[in-house]
Amino acid sequence: MVRKIAICSQKGGVGKTTTSVNLAAGLAMLGHKVLLIDNDSQANATTSCGIRQQDVHLSLYDILTKPDQKPDPVIRKCRLDTLWLIPASGQLVSAEIELIREMGRELILKEKMEEIEERYDYVIIDCTPGISLLVLNALFCCDEIIIPIQSQFLALEGIDQLLHAVHVIQKRMRHSIRVTGIVCTMFDRRTKLSSFILQQMTSLFKEGLFETVISVNTKLAEAPLKGNNIFEYAPACNAANDYMALAREVVERGNRDWKETYCRSDDGLAIKPGVQFAEENDTLKCKMESLKPLISAVMSIDNAKASELEAKTEKPQEEGAPEVPKSVSDTGGSAAPSAMEEENILWG
Ligand code: ATP
Ligand code: MG
Repeated sequence: MVRKIAICSQKGGVGKTTTSVNLAAGLAMLGHKVLLIDNDSQANATTSCGIRQQDVHLSLYDILTKPDQKPDPVIRKCRLDTLWLIPASGQLVSAEIELIREMGRELILKEKMEEIEERYDYVIIDCTPGISLLVLNALFCCDEIIIPIQSQFLALEGIDQLLHAVHVIQKRMRHSIRVTGIVCTMFDRRTKLSSFILQQMTSLFKEGLFETVISVNTKLAEAPLKGNNIFEYAPACNAANDYMALAREVVERGNRDWKETYCRSDDGLAIKPGVQFAEENDTLKCKMESLKPLISAVMSIDNAKASELEAKTEKPQEEGAPEVPKSVSDTGGSAAPSAMEEENILWG
């Protein structure tokens, strides 16, 4: 059965597109049939697949705004054998306005996908930041979401709004959607701030956090400029290893028995993967309350302090340098500060 996963976050620039493109490519490299949907008018995922804007004649915009537009003519084959793309174009920005009077406008993508989705093993949707009509279309279309969080200042800003939106969709709209996991992106082992944020995320999300950590790597920023994913651009680099590890973890999480493994949420703190927010209890409320102090602890680092922490650089990270931790459990040593060190890190 197809797994449909939206990559979203309230915040911009946290690695949604990079994760969508390279997770989709990683899954395809593992032999799965993958459809990547570019749901952002910036069309960065489209460019990363080597498709230039002037070559996009049909796009997601047409699927969403034209009742008779079938997805098939819009779908483009990518270079990888089992990877396809629904491209975006700048026109997508006007879709929200054009659909304003449309009944059931948040369900259009879900309905259009129904006729083709079973051809694929995975559908990955790259979303814009925030909760727009385009993002709602992705959330209603998908059964799962992955939330990238950048290991930087104000990392957790907005995550409560996103989880609240997921809750509302679950409960009021009766659409089953679960958080597959939260992935820490742009982890920079040179800064103590990055390690501190990762440690906070580990204690906050527990099993909800993917073990794979995506490290900062300039090759990830260069690859889209060449219209490549990381496996095409620099297959031997650490970033390719990171995204392959993430793809394997996503596959593995899908094999788990969600209900048995993850739906028990008695500590009220961890956002567990697969948690059913529509449960008839106050678990979510309890979780949101528990999140607040931790979120504000991270957010209470002021700008000056954040710059100071970021400036405490150990040494430049180089390709071929010792591996950055692939797993949050590996960060217990020098990368992640102990609770005792935490105060020093925060307050100098
Ligand atoms: P937006 O909210 O604008 O859609 P986004 O969340 O999709 O942004 P990306 O576009 O994936 O974020 O990443 C933002 C920038 O950071 C891009 O220039 C990208 O190439 C770069 N980037 C992403 N991940 C990494 C990484 N691990 N190391 C280095 N650069 C990265
Ligand atoms: Mg993006």
